[in-house]
Amino acid sequence: MILIGLIPLLWFFLGLSDSDARQRVCEPQRLESIDWEEFKWLYKQQDSTFSTDSISSYVFIRINPDGTKETREFSQLHQPWTELLAAEIDSFKVRRDSLLSRIHTPYRLRYTSTTRNKKQQLALQKKGFSKAFISFHNFGLAADGAIYRKGRYLKRGAIYDQYGLKAKALGLFWGGDFVGFPDPGHIQAFLNSASLIQKYPAVALEYEPFKSAYERNYFKKVDIGREELVEDSRDLLNELNKLRVNKPCACSQAIPFPVSALDLQLKPHSITVMANLKEQYIFIQKGSFGYFYPMGIWKLNDAN
Ligand SMILES: [Zn+2]
Repeated sequence: MILIGLIPLLWFFLGLSDSDARQRVCEPQRLESIDWEEFKWLYKQQDSTFSTDSISSYVFIRINPDGTKETREFSQLHQPWTELLAAEIDSFKVRRDSLLSRIHTPYRLRYTSTTRNKKQQLALQKKGFSKAFISFHNFGLAADGAIYRKGRYLKRGAIYDQYGLKAKALGLFWGGDFVGFPDPGHIQAFLNSASLIQKYPAVALEYEPFKSAYERNYFKKVDIGREELVEDSRDLLNELNKLRVNKPCACSQAIPFPVSALDLQLKPHSITVMANLKEQYIFIQKGSFGYFYPMGIWKLNDAN
């Protein structure tokens, strides 16, 4: 009897896991090596502060399995996405500006917001004006159009549908099509963050600090049966997971201060990250101090 009840339930869960985002879990595991690039990801995955204004350098220390110590210093951790995306940004601007002449009198189109920095985006997100922690505005790949009729701003109306159709005819994506959070003034160069990352995997680094926040929002909606509202988040999480699976991570349960780290010195206006491959721990500075974590490897959780 119980078995008969269990089998459909099992199918139900197996079916769900196909279309669902799976959770990425840092599984404690021994690491023999870690390259300098991985330090950036390890740090970004733990960084949710954005107090980087006063940070002038990042110090990465690696204690090798034989006890030898190597240090690298970087002035910033961004992937060079302004160069990486330069052609996309130019092409977006050309199409965005060509829309200006495609909205005819008595209407007039103006762009109120184009490129935003991370702080501006987070402020909008906190106020509830935007759903995204990081948006195409951050990359210079989105704009918000406002349409006026005889000098009067129109908040909505059929003219925005025309604007959307014209944007789409130019290969852009229109915010009026957004599910759950339609934004008829907004246009962007890519369908969603997942498609940007598919084309430019390096950009994923910028999303990593917000991964758990996206995850929380996503599972909140899944829990109430509204996964259709968060399909973009699901696709984004799946892309981020795909890129990091089997890569080194700092496992979330902090460990006590190891004796071998007693001589660890933190420099002002810098962030220190240390990987000790001999004793298998990672130190990540947070604020004026930091935490020690066991080393591990990212795995996908099957049993969501
Ligand atoms: Zn926008």
